[in-house]
Amino acid sequence: MNIITDPHREQWAELVRRPAFDVTQLFDVVRPIMDAVHTHGDQALREYGHRFDGVQLEALAVSPEEVAEACAQVPQALAEAIELAYCNIYDFHELQRNTQAPVKLETAPGVVCEQRTLPIQRVGLYVPGGQAPLFSTVLMLAIPAAVAGCEEVVLCTPPGKDGKVNPVILFAAELCGVKRIFKVGGAQAIAAMTYGTESVPKVDKIFGPGNAYVTAAKQLASLAGVAIDMPAGPSEVEVLADATCVPAFVAADLLSQAEHGPDSQAMLVTTDAAVARAVATEVEKQLAELPRREVAAKSIANSRIIVLADKQDCIDFTNAYGPEHLIIAMEDADAVAQETTNAGSIFLGNYSCESAGDYASGTNHTLPTMGCVRAYSSLCIDSFQRKLTLQTLTPQGIRSIGHTVELMAQAEQLDAHARAMELRMQTVSQLPAEETTTGIAKLVRPNILKLKPYSSARDEYAGKAAHVFLDANECPHNAPNNRYPDPLQWELKQKISAYKGVAPERIFLGNGSDEAIDLIFRTFCTPGVDEVAAISPSYGMYEVCADINNIRYNAIPLEEGYQFDAENFLQSIYSPCTKVIFICSPNNPTGNLLPLAEIRKVLDIFPGIVVVDEAYIDFAPAGSSAAALLDAYPRLIVLNTFSKAWASAGIRLGMALAHPEIIGLFNKVKYPYNVNILTQRAAMERLEHMDEIRNWVEEALRERTRMMQEVAALPICHQVYPSDANFFLARMTDACAIYDALVNQGIIVRNRHRITMCENCLRITIGTPAENDELLAALKHF
Ligand code: PMP
Repeated sequence: MNIITDPHREQWAELVRRPAFDVTQLFDVVRPIMDAVHTHGDQALREYGHRFDGVQLEALAVSPEEVAEACAQVPQALAEAIELAYCNIYDFHELQRNTQAPVKLETAPGVVCEQRTLPIQRVGLYVPGGQAPLFSTVLMLAIPAAVAGCEEVVLCTPPGKDGKVNPVILFAAELCGVKRIFKVGGAQAIAAMTYGTESVPKVDKIFGPGNAYVTAAKQLASLAGVAIDMPAGPSEVEVLADATCVPAFVAADLLSQAEHGPDSQAMLVTTDAAVARAVATEVEKQLAELPRREVAAKSIANSRIIVLADKQDCIDFTNAYGPEHLIIAMEDADAVAQETTNAGSIFLGNYSCESAGDYASGTNHTLPTMGCVRAYSSLCIDSFQRKLTLQTLTPQGIRSIGHTVELMAQAEQLDAHARAMELRMQTVSQLPAEETTTGIAKLVRPNILKLKPYSSARDEYAGKAAHVFLDANECPHNAPNNRYPDPLQWELKQKISAYKGVAPERIFLGNGSDEAIDLIFRTFCTPGVDEVAAISPSYGMYEVCADINNIRYNAIPLEEGYQFDAENFLQSIYSPCTKVIFICSPNNPTGNLLPLAEIRKVLDIFPGIVVVDEAYIDFAPAGSSAAALLDAYPRLIVLNTFSKAWASAGIRLGMALAHPEIIGLFNKVKYPYNVNILTQRAAMERLEHMDEIRNWVEEALRERTRMMQEVAALPICHQVYPSDANFFLARMTDACAIYDALVNQGIIVRNRHRITMCENCLRITIGTPAENDELLAALKHF
């Protein structure tokens, strides 16, 4: 092979040039074929079949009997190999379809835009015959067509001299569910699928490789209004290699490309002259042993080995070339691949050979050549689909963008366009002002909106003095906990309402506030589509729930000193799919309260649900609760819990305070009896003695001041952060060592060292004075 060492950058354009390949000169030959098929249909196909394939065919369609006969002829081992390849290719393409997110956005109030993806209805697959039966092409074209949901799949392939289609091609087609197969090849097959004949249906898009005549015919087809997959050219491979490559592997990869045809291109790019020589020697050696050595030798004669000065040059050269296949046999293949922008399909590392992708790994082997990788994708599900958009404008939408549209249309002097909008604006101006809505309904997951409102017969008929309850299969025995509890916990909510000054319709009770957190995800976030954002560091359950519910979690760092800046926070939310924001105040684990003014800014600007988790609010100064904002902001949810100041963590009772519309949604989504009767009773009892709580909180606050001072004074403590909660965060010299030593003495605090922005921090809960003394005594020992 020709080795070119250290070419100047000016020479690169010449080195990456492909052999001239201009199919337009074949138009004069191909156009009459297209026209003849257009005019004479099947009769023309039979004549061309006779002339080009040497067969006289009566029926052009392959019959089910022929398919069955062919399938029986395929050797078992080959059939199993094709089935395995089928599964891998199917799985990879199915995943592409499953990860397509719905696109729907209210771009302005009352203006909803949507994009819908639909399969292309009728597709035509061309599978060349020639010397070798390319049955792998059937898999690569027919599987994505099936996964995309194309209704009609037509396959054309030339018959052999015996008038039969290669049995393995028929086997692969049968496996992929292709039912309409025609014994038609060459340009006339493309013509048949373009115009339709008595036998061959017309299609909307044609896929598949072929010789220069097929390529020319596809270009003419595209002028006749049928889409084509991509411009085709001879196959190409580039291998990027360093000293870690295996020269025999590289040589085999270059030759596997070369054997496709004399015009195939194989190129080695390396920084290592010894690798260049070793590969050249290996190529000679392996070429001599190849059955298709004559073809391969012609291609190898046009191929090159290029030795460049450094890795960056190799990457730049590759991007300038844009090969169909790129094998990176280098130590840091991943990093090099990250910087490679122009390639059809990339194979990383010594074991990833092109042949794997050609047949069975799962990726598609139909790839752009001739440098078209700059603008074309490798064949994928998208190639078999199309997108259409939908939009709905309500009167509010006309108010939102009517004037903009009118102005633009007038500026383009398209008066009828302007009038179409003006007429609507006039009508809308006469409508009564729209009722202001809470905006909650449009944030809810569509499947949840469909659920019926929660109702219980026992609630409904309570007023009718029902006294025989034979509706819930309880035991006919009057034990204390025999009955299911009141599903909406009305009595308990009345009591909480009286204490908190929040209407009972605005209260949701759950199995800890953790249940409310999970319900927020299940009510508002569509798995795999929506996202949430939260301050960071913060309470870990938000991210856990996001992961469990398959919702992307966007953790946005607090500012210096754990401060919260609403505008910076909101600017970091990049996705319009963000449905919910979680703010914890006082924040766990930092302990500080976030200013209400900043929370209000978030509510003013962000159009989704804003959750303010106030698990520790009772330890913060009076007047700092966001619950005061509930009337003004229907999209606000405030979380509270019995687990902290109310000294009842064991009963598992949490609260969400929100607009009744949100509480109604939670009632639909929650499990029917989510708060058990024992918890309800314990909570009622707690609420009878709320006066005790003030004293406990006051003692905790006194102890907090003492502990923070004493810990701050320790030589092992760098800093104690201000706290509005019943814990504080202390940055230590070595949090892990201190934590371990405390555990050994039976004292457990919370090690937050692994949390971003909390390196070497311990979170210390305020205990009883005796517990606090014990901790201090232990810490003083360091
Ligand atoms: N929110 C925060 C900020 C918390 O720290 C905790 C518990 N550590 C909870 C909610 C969960 O509370 P519950 O016991 O009500 O589930």
